[in-house]
Amino acid sequence: MEKTKGQELKEKLFVSKKTGWEKLASDVKDKVLKFNEGYISFLNKCKTERECALYAKKILEEHGFVNLGEASTLSPGDKVYYINRKKAVYAAVIGEDMLEEGLNLVGAHIDSPRLDLKPNPLYEAGGLALLKTHYYGGIKKYQWTTIPLSMRGVIVKVDGEVIDVCIGENEDDPIFTITDLLPHLAYKQEKKTLGEGIAGEDLNILVGSIPYEDEKVDEKIKLNIMNLLHEKYGIVEKDFTSAEIEIVPAFPARSLGFDKSMVAAYGQDDRSCAYTTLMALVNLDCPRKTAVALLADKEEIGSVGNTGMYSQNFEVFIASLLDKTGQNGHNVLEKTLCHSKMLSSDVTSAADPNYPDVDDSHNAAYLGQGIALCKYTGSRGKSGASDASAEFVGHIRGILEKNNLAYQMADMGKVDEGGGGTIAYILANKGVDVLDCGVPVLSMHAPYEVTSKFDIYNAYEVYLAFYHD
Ligand code: MN
Ligand code: MN
Repeated sequence: MEKTKGQELKEKLFVSKKTGWEKLASDVKDKVLKFNEGYISFLNKCKTERECALYAKKILEEHGFVNLGEASTLSPGDKVYYINRKKAVYAAVIGEDMLEEGLNLVGAHIDSPRLDLKPNPLYEAGGLALLKTHYYGGIKKYQWTTIPLSMRGVIVKVDGEVIDVCIGENEDDPIFTITDLLPHLAYKQEKKTLGEGIAGEDLNILVGSIPYEDEKVDEKIKLNIMNLLHEKYGIVEKDFTSAEIEIVPAFPARSLGFDKSMVAAYGQDDRSCAYTTLMALVNLDCPRKTAVALLADKEEIGSVGNTGMYSQNFEVFIASLLDKTGQNGHNVLEKTLCHSKMLSSDVTSAADPNYPDVDDSHNAAYLGQGIALCKYTGSRGKSGASDASAEFVGHIRGILEKNNLAYQMADMGKVDEGGGGTIAYILANKGVDVLDCGVPVLSMHAPYEVTSKFDIYNAYEVYLAFYHD
């Protein structure tokens, strides 16, 4: 049937809100599903920032990237990486233009909300052995009780030996959990607000119940656990003080839905963007602009510290690229950053039909409609926002439309409802043009987060197109 004039006009003039799956050619659909198999496998291997950094190193090396320290000079087409303290990764493909004319950066983070063990975690109470935790990042504490948990990280002994710990991921491994009150006895607890129902000090991990057999000692259950740990890892209780043990959900990443169109997994903030950023970089040949991928740590607690985006290590990395490409004039680092462009690849909240009240439906991101561009983040009056210029948003839209890529513009939550931040403003403060640009996520920061497979593949294509520009 022929379209009416009004229908034609509407199609031409209005923002279309259609899902990316619609009219998706079957060969592209196959690519989407195949790409997500790799993504799901990555999520299962990498549940901590250290694991992500190690995985990135492996992928980078497989694609011909070399450690920056091993390259004495760099020329167009060369590929290098730098790992900052095993927790953050910077990688680059040298482009044809002088670096001083600007870099194309894509930056994600590889830390996710979780529970960290306290320095003196192990204790015995009520015939059970437990571990004390201090949560990391913004969590809804009640969500972390009564789910299977695994334990991953490192213990460093005084002689410098690093002991890797990973328990709860293999099928024959035991798992851990945090208990909660039965409804029958939760009358008072249920009167509390969601935020108060479970306190930070209640997030204690159940780890054992068999006593050490010796009538003459007390704390028999704690002793038995400590003895098991000593036998397996050679550690004593004091070694917990120089450890980084992260408690994360033990369930695996899975396809979600009858149509298998979505991914349910822990840590998709921001590993969905980290994986797609990494994959885009390693699939580049010799771009015009030098392409840089940043996988930062500590975003969830303010990008602080020597592995967070604020760290001087980032500038040192860029300065090394300049030095090794023979560009070392006056203020060349500052000029390079002021001429650079960046996509801050971090997830955004997707509109949830169960909670329509928190979003402005005209400006929310929807699952399956492609990557979400957020001109500004921040909350309540754009406070703390990195606000990309209309010119830069126009520039990015130009790239996406030229490449026929889906995208949606989004503003997280209603104006007075709240908001979030990313690493965007940190680079913007250095003079870089930055736009937030990431995958929409349902149940963000929960132990099990949901994304659309279409959006994951779309993010990869968007970052690749940006690097190629
Ligand atoms: Mn994030
Ligand atoms: Mn986050």
